[in-house]
Amino acid sequence: MDKVVKVLDTTLRDGEQTPGLSLSIEQKKMIAEALDKLGVDIIEAGTAIASKGEFNAIKEISSLDLNAEICSFCRIKEIDIDAAADAGADSVFMVAPSSPIHISTKFPGKKEEDIIEMSVKAVEYAKDRGLIVEFGGEDASRANLEFIKKLYKEVLDAGADRLTYTDTVGVLTPEKCEEIMKKLKSEFKNVDIAIHCHDDFGLAVANTIFAVKGGADEVHVTINGIGERAGNAALEEVVATLELLYGIKTGIELKKIYRTSKLVEKLTGIAIPPNKAIVGENAFTHESGIHTSAILRNASSYEPISPEVVGRERHIVLGKHAGRASVEAVMRELGYKATEEQMKEILKRIKEIGDLGKTVTDADVRTIIETVLQVKREKKVILEDLSIVSGKNVMPTASVKLRINGKEIIEAAVGTGPVDAAINAIKKGVKDFADIELISYRVDAITGGTNALVDVIVQLKRGNKVVTARGARTDIVMASVEAMMEGLNMLI
Ligand code: MN
Repeated sequence: MDKVVKVLDTTLRDGEQTPGLSLSIEQKKMIAEALDKLGVDIIEAGTAIASKGEFNAIKEISSLDLNAEICSFCRIKEIDIDAAADAGADSVFMVAPSSPIHISTKFPGKKEEDIIEMSVKAVEYAKDRGLIVEFGGEDASRANLEFIKKLYKEVLDAGADRLTYTDTVGVLTPEKCEEIMKKLKSEFKNVDIAIHCHDDFGLAVANTIFAVKGGADEVHVTINGIGERAGNAALEEVVATLELLYGIKTGIELKKIYRTSKLVEKLTGIAIPPNKAIVGENAFTHESGIHTSAILRNASSYEPISPEVVGRERHIVLGKHAGRASVEAVMRELGYKATEEQMKEILKRIKEIGDLGKTVTDADVRTIIETVLQVKREKKVILEDLSIVSGKNVMPTASVKLRINGKEIIEAAVGTGPVDAAINAIKKGVKDFADIELISYRVDAITGGTNALVDVIVQLKRGNKVVTARGARTDIVMASVEAMMEGLNMLI
Protein backbone atom coordinates (compact mmCIF):
# COMPACT_ATOMS: atom_id res chain seq x y z
CA MET A 1 0.00 0.00 0.00
CA ASP A 2 1.46 3.36 -0.86
CA LYS A 3 -1.34 5.52 0.48
CA VAL A 4 -0.91 7.78 3.48
CA VAL A 5 -3.37 7.24 6.30
CA LYS A 6 -4.75 10.44 7.79
CA VAL A 7 -4.71 10.89 11.55
CA LEU A 8 -7.53 12.60 13.45
CA ASP A 9 -6.42 13.10 17.04
CA THR A 10 -9.26 13.41 19.53
CA THR A 11 -7.22 13.71 22.74
CA LEU A 12 -8.84 17.10 23.34
CA ARG A 13 -12.40 15.83 22.79
CA ASP A 14 -12.88 12.09 23.39
CA GLY A 15 -9.68 12.03 25.46
CA GLU A 16 -10.93 14.85 27.63
CA GLN A 17 -14.10 12.85 28.25
CA THR A 18 -11.95 10.66 30.51
CA PRO A 19 -13.76 10.55 33.87
CA GLY A 20 -12.53 13.34 36.14
CA LEU A 21 -10.44 15.08 33.51
CA SER A 22 -10.83 18.73 32.66
CA LEU A 23 -8.16 20.73 30.87
CA SER A 24 -7.76 24.50 31.00
CA ILE A 25 -7.69 26.53 27.80
CA GLU A 26 -3.94 27.08 28.22
CA GLN A 27 -3.35 23.35 28.62
CA LYS A 28 -5.49 22.58 25.57
CA LYS A 29 -3.51 25.08 23.52
CA MET A 30 -0.22 23.48 24.57
CA ILE A 31 -1.49 20.04 23.58
CA ALA A 32 -2.86 21.34 20.25
CA GLU A 33 0.50 22.89 19.41
CA ALA A 34 2.30 19.66 20.27
CA LEU A 35 -0.14 17.62 18.14
CA ASP A 36 0.43 19.96 15.23
CA LYS A 37 4.21 19.58 15.51
CA LEU A 38 3.72 15.81 15.76
CA GLY A 39 2.06 15.97 12.36
CA VAL A 40 -1.58 15.02 12.96
CA ASP A 41 -3.87 15.98 10.08
CA ILE A 42 -6.96 16.86 12.09
CA ILE A 43 -7.18 18.04 15.70
CA GLU A 44 -10.61 17.46 17.21
CA ALA A 45 -10.28 20.24 19.76
CA GLY A 46 -13.50 19.82 21.73
CA THR A 47 -17.25 20.32 21.50
CA ALA A 48 -17.98 24.00 20.91
CA ILE A 49 -21.56 23.81 22.23
CA ALA A 50 -20.56 22.03 25.46
CA SER A 51 -19.55 25.10 27.49
CA LYS A 52 -18.16 28.61 27.27
CA GLY A 53 -14.73 27.21 28.10
CA GLU A 54 -14.89 24.61 25.31
CA PHE A 55 -16.03 27.26 22.87
CA ASN A 56 -13.19 29.57 23.85
CA ALA A 57 -10.64 26.76 23.70
CA ILE A 58 -11.67 25.92 20.11
CA LYS A 59 -11.66 29.60 19.25
CA GLU A 60 -8.14 30.12 20.61
CA ILE A 61 -6.80 26.93 19.05
CA SER A 62 -8.32 27.93 15.70
CA SER A 63 -6.55 31.27 15.90
CA LEU A 64 -3.14 29.63 16.52
CA ASP A 65 -2.86 29.19 12.75
CA LEU A 66 -1.70 25.60 12.94
CA ASN A 67 -1.19 23.35 9.90
CA ALA A 68 -3.74 20.85 11.16
CA GLU A 69 -7.44 21.14 10.42
CA ILE A 70 -9.26 22.18 13.62
CA CYS A 71 -12.44 20.23 14.22
CA SER A 72 -15.32 20.50 16.69
CA PHE A 73 -17.58 17.64 17.66
CA CYS A 74 -21.28 18.35 17.02
CA ARG A 75 -24.67 16.69 17.07
CA ILE A 76 -27.20 17.02 14.23
CA LYS A 77 -28.43 20.27 15.74
CA GLU A 78 -28.15 23.79 14.37
CA ILE A 79 -27.03 25.27 17.71
CA ASP A 80 -24.11 22.83 17.79
CA ILE A 81 -23.12 23.67 14.22
CA ASP A 82 -23.42 27.39 14.90
CA ALA A 83 -21.19 27.11 17.95
CA ALA A 84 -18.53 25.24 15.93
CA ALA A 85 -18.65 27.76 13.09
CA ASP A 86 -18.67 30.76 15.44
CA ALA A 87 -15.64 29.38 17.26
CA GLY A 88 -13.79 29.37 13.94
CA ALA A 89 -13.42 25.61 13.54
CA ASP A 90 -12.48 24.37 10.05
CA SER A 91 -14.62 21.28 10.35
CA VAL A 92 -17.14 19.35 12.40
CA PHE A 93 -17.20 15.72 13.34
CA MET A 94 -20.97 15.40 13.14
CA VAL A 95 -22.55 12.43 14.81
CA ALA A 96 -26.11 11.07 14.51
CA PRO A 97 -27.43 8.22 16.64
CA SER A 98 -27.55 5.15 14.43
CA SER A 99 -28.16 2.05 16.53
CA PRO A 100 -31.70 1.21 17.73
CA ILE A 101 -30.67 1.80 21.35
CA HIS A 102 -29.12 5.20 20.62
CA ILE A 103 -32.03 6.32 18.45
CA SER A 104 -34.68 5.37 20.99
CA THR A 105 -32.71 6.84 23.91
CA LYS A 106 -31.73 10.13 22.29
CA PHE A 107 -34.72 10.76 20.01
CA PRO A 108 -37.63 8.83 21.55
CA GLY A 109 -40.34 8.08 19.00
CA LYS A 110 -38.08 8.80 16.00
CA LYS A 111 -37.46 6.25 13.28
CA GLU A 112 -34.44 5.60 11.09
CA GLU A 113 -36.00 7.70 8.31
CA ASP A 114 -36.31 10.63 10.73
CA ILE A 115 -32.62 10.33 11.61
CA ILE A 116 -31.72 10.44 7.91
CA GLU A 117 -33.86 13.51 7.36
CA MET A 118 -32.41 15.34 10.41
CA SER A 119 -28.87 14.38 9.39
CA VAL A 120 -29.33 15.64 5.83
CA LYS A 121 -30.64 18.96 7.13
CA ALA A 122 -27.77 19.28 9.58
CA VAL A 123 -25.15 18.52 6.89
CA GLU A 124 -26.71 21.07 4.54
CA TYR A 125 -26.73 23.64 7.33
CA ALA A 126 -23.09 22.96 8.22
CA LYS A 127 -22.07 23.28 4.56
CA ASP A 128 -23.94 26.60 4.40
CA ARG A 129 -21.88 27.72 7.37
CA GLY A 130 -18.72 26.92 5.45
CA LEU A 131 -17.62 23.88 7.47
CA ILE A 132 -15.91 20.71 6.29
CA VAL A 133 -18.22 17.90 7.43
CA GLU A 134 -17.00 14.54 8.64
CA PHE A 135 -20.12 12.51 9.33
CA GLY A 136 -20.43 9.48 11.56
CA GLY A 137 -23.24 7.32 12.84
CA GLU A 138 -22.85 6.99 16.59
CA ASP A 139 -22.75 3.38 17.84
CA ALA A 140 -22.58 2.26 14.21
CA SER A 141 -21.10 -1.11 15.21
CA ARG A 142 -24.41 -2.00 16.90
CA ALA A 143 -26.54 -0.56 14.09
CA ASN A 144 -27.95 -2.23 11.01
CA LEU A 145 -25.25 -1.92 8.33
CA GLU A 146 -27.84 -1.40 5.58
CA PHE A 147 -29.19 1.60 7.50
CA ILE A 148 -25.66 2.97 7.95
CA LYS A 149 -25.06 2.74 4.20
CA LYS A 150 -28.34 4.49 3.45
CA LEU A 151 -27.53 7.21 5.98
CA TYR A 152 -24.03 7.68 4.50
CA LYS A 153 -25.40 7.89 0.97
CA GLU A 154 -27.93 10.55 1.90
CA VAL A 155 -25.47 12.71 3.85
CA LEU A 156 -22.94 12.49 1.01
CA ASP A 157 -25.62 13.71 -1.38
CA ALA A 158 -26.24 16.55 1.05
CA GLY A 159 -22.58 17.56 0.85
CA ALA A 160 -20.72 15.66 3.60
CA ASP A 161 -16.99 15.52 2.89
CA ARG A 162 -15.85 12.47 4.85
CA LEU A 163 -17.43 9.52 6.67
CA THR A 164 -16.63 7.80 9.96
CA TYR A 165 -17.51 4.34 11.15
CA THR A 166 -17.71 4.35 14.95
CA ASP A 167 -17.33 1.52 17.42
CA THR A 168 -18.68 3.63 20.27
CA VAL A 169 -18.78 0.89 22.90
CA GLY A 170 -15.81 -1.11 21.64
CA VAL A 171 -17.54 -4.34 20.59
CA LEU A 172 -15.93 -4.91 17.21
CA THR A 173 -13.34 -7.57 16.49
CA PRO A 174 -10.49 -7.11 14.02
CA GLU A 175 -12.00 -9.48 11.42
CA LYS A 176 -15.41 -7.78 11.55
CA CYS A 177 -13.80 -4.38 11.37
CA GLU A 178 -11.85 -5.28 8.23
CA GLU A 179 -14.87 -6.88 6.59
CA ILE A 180 -17.20 -3.94 7.30
CA MET A 181 -14.64 -1.44 6.07
CA LYS A 182 -14.19 -3.43 2.84
CA LYS A 183 -17.95 -3.39 2.28
CA LEU A 184 -18.16 0.35 2.94
CA LYS A 185 -15.17 1.14 0.74
CA SER A 186 -16.58 -0.88 -2.14
CA GLU A 187 -19.72 1.22 -1.97
CA PHE A 188 -18.17 4.63 -1.22
CA LYS A 189 -15.03 4.61 -3.31
CA ASN A 190 -14.27 8.27 -3.70
CA VAL A 191 -14.76 9.49 -0.19
CA ASP A 192 -12.45 9.17 2.81
CA ILE A 193 -13.76 6.85 5.50
CA ALA A 194 -12.42 7.05 9.05
CA ILE A 195 -12.49 4.47 11.83
CA HIS A 196 -13.24 5.40 15.45
CA CYS A 197 -12.59 2.64 17.99
CA HIS A 198 -12.93 2.30 21.75
CA ASP A 199 -10.89 -0.03 23.91
CA ASP A 200 -13.51 -1.78 26.04
CA PHE A 201 -12.08 -5.20 25.16
CA GLY A 202 -8.51 -4.02 24.61
CA LEU A 203 -8.99 -4.28 20.84
CA ALA A 204 -9.13 -0.62 19.83
CA VAL A 205 -5.67 -0.62 18.25
CA ALA A 206 -6.10 -4.01 16.53
CA ASN A 207 -9.53 -3.01 15.24
CA THR A 208 -8.16 0.27 13.92
CA ILE A 209 -5.30 -1.50 12.13
CA PHE A 210 -7.67 -4.02 10.55
CA ALA A 211 -9.97 -1.22 9.43
CA VAL A 212 -7.00 0.29 7.61
CA LYS A 213 -6.31 -3.12 6.04
CA GLY A 214 -9.95 -3.08 4.94
CA GLY A 215 -9.44 0.29 3.28
CA ALA A 216 -9.99 2.97 5.94
CA ASP A 217 -8.38 6.26 4.92
CA GLU A 218 -8.29 7.91 8.34
CA VAL A 219 -7.88 6.81 11.96
CA HIS A 220 -9.33 8.41 15.09
CA VAL A 221 -6.87 8.16 17.98
CA THR A 222 -5.86 9.77 21.27
CA ILE A 223 -2.43 10.22 22.83
CA ASN A 224 -1.81 7.46 25.39
CA GLY A 225 -5.20 6.02 24.46
CA ILE A 226 -7.00 8.21 27.00
CA GLY A 227 -10.75 8.53 26.68
CA GLU A 228 -14.12 7.53 28.09
CA ARG A 229 -14.27 4.24 29.99
CA ALA A 230 -11.38 2.06 28.76
CA GLY A 231 -10.28 4.79 26.36
CA ASN A 232 -9.69 5.12 22.62
CA ALA A 233 -7.19 3.64 20.19
CA ALA A 234 -3.77 4.99 21.20
CA LEU A 235 -2.06 7.18 18.61
CA GLU A 236 1.43 5.95 19.45
CA GLU A 237 0.46 2.29 19.06
CA VAL A 238 -1.62 2.70 15.92
CA VAL A 239 0.96 4.87 14.19
CA ALA A 240 3.99 2.78 15.21
CA THR A 241 2.19 -0.40 14.08
CA LEU A 242 1.12 1.05 10.74
CA GLU A 243 4.50 2.57 9.98
CA LEU A 244 6.90 -0.02 11.40
CA LEU A 245 5.04 -3.33 11.06
CA TYR A 246 2.80 -2.73 8.05
CA GLY A 247 4.90 -0.17 6.18
CA ILE A 248 1.89 2.13 5.85
CA LYS A 249 2.73 5.81 6.01
CA THR A 250 1.13 8.48 8.17
CA GLY A 251 2.10 12.12 8.45
CA ILE A 252 3.32 11.57 12.02
CA GLU A 253 6.90 12.35 12.99
CA LEU A 254 7.71 9.25 15.01
CA LYS A 255 10.57 10.90 16.87
CA LYS A 256 8.14 13.35 18.50
CA ILE A 257 5.80 10.66 19.83
CA TYR A 258 7.39 10.27 23.25
CA ARG A 259 7.61 13.94 24.14
CA THR A 260 3.97 14.44 23.11
CA SER A 261 2.93 11.46 25.19
CA LYS A 262 4.80 12.81 28.25
CA LEU A 263 3.29 16.26 27.78
CA VAL A 264 -0.23 14.79 27.74
CA GLU A 265 0.61 12.68 30.79
CA LYS A 266 1.82 15.74 32.65
CA LEU A 267 -1.06 18.04 31.72
CA THR A 268 -3.85 15.48 32.20
CA GLY A 269 -2.35 13.88 35.30
CA ILE A 270 -3.20 10.47 33.82
CA ALA A 271 -0.12 8.33 34.35
CA ILE A 272 1.18 6.15 31.52
CA PRO A 273 1.29 2.53 32.75
CA PRO A 274 4.94 1.43 32.96
CA ASN A 275 4.36 -1.56 30.68
CA LYS A 276 2.53 0.41 27.97
CA ALA A 277 3.70 -0.20 24.41
CA ILE A 278 6.00 2.41 22.85
CA VAL A 279 5.66 5.09 25.57
CA GLY A 280 5.64 3.16 28.87
CA GLU A 281 8.57 3.68 31.23
CA ASN A 282 9.64 0.05 30.80
CA ALA A 283 9.18 -0.22 27.03
CA PHE A 284 12.91 0.32 26.44
CA THR A 285 14.24 -0.49 29.91
CA HIS A 286 16.15 -3.69 30.53
CA GLU A 287 16.78 -5.34 33.83
CA SER A 288 17.14 -9.07 33.47
CA GLY A 289 20.78 -10.17 33.59
CA ILE A 290 20.79 -12.50 30.59
CA HIS A 291 18.88 -10.02 28.46
CA THR A 292 21.09 -7.14 29.49
CA SER A 293 24.34 -8.84 28.56
CA ALA A 294 22.90 -9.63 25.14
CA ILE A 295 21.59 -6.08 24.80
CA LEU A 296 25.00 -4.64 25.60
CA ARG A 297 26.48 -6.70 22.77
CA ASN A 298 23.67 -6.29 20.28
CA ALA A 299 20.77 -4.02 21.19
CA SER A 300 18.34 -5.51 18.71
CA SER A 301 18.52 -8.92 20.40
CA TYR A 302 15.78 -7.90 22.83
CA GLU A 303 14.38 -4.75 21.24
CA PRO A 304 11.87 -4.76 18.35
CA ILE A 305 12.89 -1.26 17.29
CA SER A 306 15.58 1.05 18.43
CA PRO A 307 14.25 3.49 21.04
CA GLU A 308 15.48 6.56 19.14
CA VAL A 309 12.92 5.83 16.40
CA VAL A 310 10.13 6.97 18.72
CA GLY A 311 12.18 9.62 20.48
CA ARG A 312 13.32 7.53 23.42
CA GLU A 313 16.51 6.30 25.07
CA ARG A 314 17.49 2.86 26.21
CA HIS A 315 17.68 2.52 29.98
CA ILE A 316 19.42 -0.33 31.72
CA VAL A 317 18.49 -0.84 35.36
CA LEU A 318 20.11 -3.16 37.77
CA GLY A 319 17.77 -5.26 39.83
CA LYS A 320 17.80 -8.65 41.37
CA HIS A 321 18.18 -10.15 37.91
CA ALA A 322 21.32 -8.10 37.36
CA GLY A 323 24.02 -10.04 35.65
CA ARG A 324 27.73 -9.54 35.59
CA ALA A 325 27.68 -7.66 32.28
CA SER A 326 25.38 -4.92 33.56
CA VAL A 327 27.35 -4.47 36.79
CA GLU A 328 30.54 -4.32 34.75
CA ALA A 329 29.01 -1.61 32.58
CA VAL A 330 28.27 0.50 35.68
CA MET A 331 31.78 -0.12 37.04
CA ARG A 332 33.34 1.01 33.78
CA GLU A 333 31.30 4.17 33.92
CA LEU A 334 32.52 4.84 37.45
CA GLY A 335 36.09 3.85 36.60
CA TYR A 336 36.26 0.93 39.06
CA LYS A 337 37.78 -2.54 38.70
CA ALA A 338 36.82 -5.54 40.80
CA THR A 339 38.48 -8.88 41.44
CA GLU A 340 36.54 -12.08 40.75
CA GLU A 341 35.74 -12.41 44.48
CA GLN A 342 34.56 -8.82 44.77
CA MET A 343 32.38 -9.19 41.71
CA LYS A 344 30.63 -12.22 43.19
CA GLU A 345 30.06 -10.34 46.43
CA ILE A 346 28.61 -7.32 44.59
CA LEU A 347 26.16 -9.46 42.61
CA LYS A 348 25.16 -11.34 45.76
CA ARG A 349 24.36 -8.13 47.64
CA ILE A 350 22.35 -6.69 44.73
CA LYS A 351 20.25 -9.85 44.55
CA GLU A 352 19.70 -9.75 48.32
CA ILE A 353 17.94 -6.37 48.11
CA GLY A 354 15.85 -7.57 45.18
CA ASP A 355 14.87 -10.75 46.99
CA LEU A 356 13.47 -8.64 49.81
CA GLY A 357 10.97 -7.40 47.25
CA LYS A 358 12.56 -3.96 47.12
CA THR A 359 13.50 -1.91 44.09
CA VAL A 360 17.25 -1.85 43.58
CA THR A 361 18.10 1.75 42.80
CA ASP A 362 21.14 3.00 40.94
CA ALA A 363 22.32 4.61 44.16
CA ASP A 364 21.98 1.24 45.97
CA VAL A 365 24.14 -0.41 43.31
CA ARG A 366 26.77 2.28 43.54
CA THR A 367 26.81 2.07 47.34
CA ILE A 368 27.19 -1.73 47.17
CA ILE A 369 30.01 -1.49 44.65
CA GLU A 370 31.83 1.12 46.70
CA THR A 371 31.31 -0.76 49.97
CA VAL A 372 32.66 -4.01 48.53
CA LEU A 373 35.58 -2.28 46.83
CA GLN A 374 36.14 -0.21 49.98
CA VAL A 375 36.20 2.95 47.96
CA LYS A 376 35.61 6.00 50.08
CA ARG A 377 33.77 8.55 48.05
CA GLU A 378 33.72 12.14 49.09
CA LYS A 379 30.10 13.35 48.89
CA LYS A 380 29.87 16.40 46.70
CA VAL A 381 26.52 17.54 48.07
CA ILE A 382 26.07 17.52 51.83
CA LEU A 383 22.95 18.55 53.71
CA GLU A 384 24.08 20.55 56.72
CA ASP A 385 20.79 21.98 57.96
CA LEU A 386 17.13 21.66 57.13
CA SER A 387 14.20 23.30 58.84
CA ILE A 388 10.57 23.17 57.88
CA VAL A 389 7.51 25.10 58.95
CA SER A 390 4.15 23.56 58.20
CA GLY A 391 0.69 23.44 59.76
CA LYS A 392 -2.72 25.05 59.51
CA ASN A 393 -2.76 28.59 58.12
CA VAL A 394 0.95 28.38 57.33
CA MET A 395 2.47 28.25 53.88
CA PRO A 396 4.71 25.16 54.00
CA THR A 397 8.24 26.59 53.91
CA ALA A 398 11.66 24.95 54.02
CA SER A 399 15.13 26.38 54.40
CA VAL A 400 18.28 24.39 53.69
CA LYS A 401 21.98 24.79 54.17
CA LEU A 402 23.91 22.69 51.64
CA ARG A 403 27.62 22.26 51.06
CA ILE A 404 28.25 21.68 47.38
CA ASN A 405 31.86 21.06 46.30
CA GLY A 406 32.88 22.75 49.53
CA LYS A 407 30.79 25.86 48.95
CA GLU A 408 28.07 26.76 51.42
CA ILE A 409 24.64 27.44 49.90
CA ILE A 410 21.59 28.67 51.80
CA GLU A 411 18.18 28.57 50.15
CA ALA A 412 14.51 28.67 51.11
CA ALA A 413 11.36 27.70 49.24
CA VAL A 414 7.66 27.18 49.71
CA GLY A 415 5.65 24.20 48.52
CA THR A 416 2.25 22.53 48.54
CA GLY A 417 3.35 20.59 51.62
CA PRO A 418 6.48 20.05 53.70
CA VAL A 419 7.97 17.46 51.32
CA ASP A 420 7.41 19.67 48.29
CA ALA A 421 8.88 22.69 50.13
CA ALA A 422 11.99 20.74 51.16
CA ILE A 423 12.55 19.35 47.66
CA ASN A 424 12.03 22.80 46.13
CA ALA A 425 14.59 24.33 48.49
CA ILE A 426 17.17 21.68 47.58
CA LYS A 427 16.46 22.10 43.86
CA LYS A 428 17.01 25.85 44.22
CA GLY A 429 20.24 25.22 46.09
CA VAL A 430 21.79 23.01 43.39
CA LYS A 431 20.46 25.03 40.47
CA ASP A 432 23.74 26.87 39.86
CA PHE A 433 25.72 23.63 39.83
CA ALA A 434 23.65 21.44 37.58
CA ASP A 435 20.38 21.38 35.71
CA ILE A 436 18.61 18.56 37.49
CA GLU A 437 15.09 17.37 36.86
CA LEU A 438 13.01 15.28 39.27
CA ILE A 439 11.29 12.82 36.95
CA SER A 440 9.40 10.74 39.46
CA TYR A 441 8.79 10.44 43.19
CA ARG A 442 7.32 7.35 44.81
CA VAL A 443 6.50 6.56 48.43
CA ASP A 444 5.94 3.18 50.06
CA ALA A 445 5.23 2.66 53.73
CA ILE A 446 7.07 -0.52 54.58
CA THR A 447 5.01 -1.30 57.66
CA GLY A 448 1.58 -0.12 58.80
CA GLY A 449 0.87 2.70 61.25
CA THR A 450 1.83 6.36 61.33
CA ASN A 451 5.27 5.51 62.71
CA ALA A 452 5.99 3.26 59.73
CA LEU A 453 9.28 3.19 57.96
CA VAL A 454 8.77 5.14 54.76
CA ASP A 455 10.62 4.20 51.61
CA VAL A 456 10.98 6.99 49.07
CA ILE A 457 12.37 6.39 45.60
CA VAL A 458 13.21 9.31 43.34
CA GLN A 459 14.27 9.35 39.73
CA LEU A 460 16.49 12.27 38.77
CA LYS A 461 17.77 13.35 35.39
CA ARG A 462 20.73 15.43 34.29
CA GLY A 463 21.24 15.68 30.55
CA ASN A 464 20.97 12.15 29.21
CA LYS A 465 21.67 10.48 32.50
CA VAL A 466 18.85 9.13 34.66
CA VAL A 467 19.43 7.73 38.14
CA THR A 468 17.21 6.29 40.85
CA ALA A 469 17.90 6.69 44.55
CA ARG A 470 16.23 5.74 47.81
CA GLY A 471 15.69 7.22 51.23
CA ALA A 472 14.25 5.14 54.06
CA ARG A 473 13.26 6.83 57.34
CA THR A 474 10.24 7.03 59.61
CA ASP A 475 10.05 10.74 58.79
CA ILE A 476 8.63 11.17 55.29
CA VAL A 477 10.30 14.55 54.81
CA MET A 478 13.70 13.20 55.79
CA ALA A 479 13.22 10.07 53.66
CA SER A 480 12.45 12.29 50.67
CA VAL A 481 15.41 14.57 51.34
CA GLU A 482 17.72 11.58 51.79
CA ALA A 483 16.62 10.12 48.45
CA MET A 484 17.22 13.49 46.78
CA MET A 485 20.69 13.81 48.32
CA GLU A 486 21.64 10.25 47.27
CA GLY A 487 20.49 10.93 43.72
CA LEU A 488 22.21 14.33 43.52
CA ASN A 489 25.47 12.77 44.62
CA MET A 490 25.25 10.40 41.66
CA LEU A 491 24.76 13.27 39.22
CA ILE A 492 26.90 16.16 40.49
MN1 MN B 1 -15.74 8.10 21.00
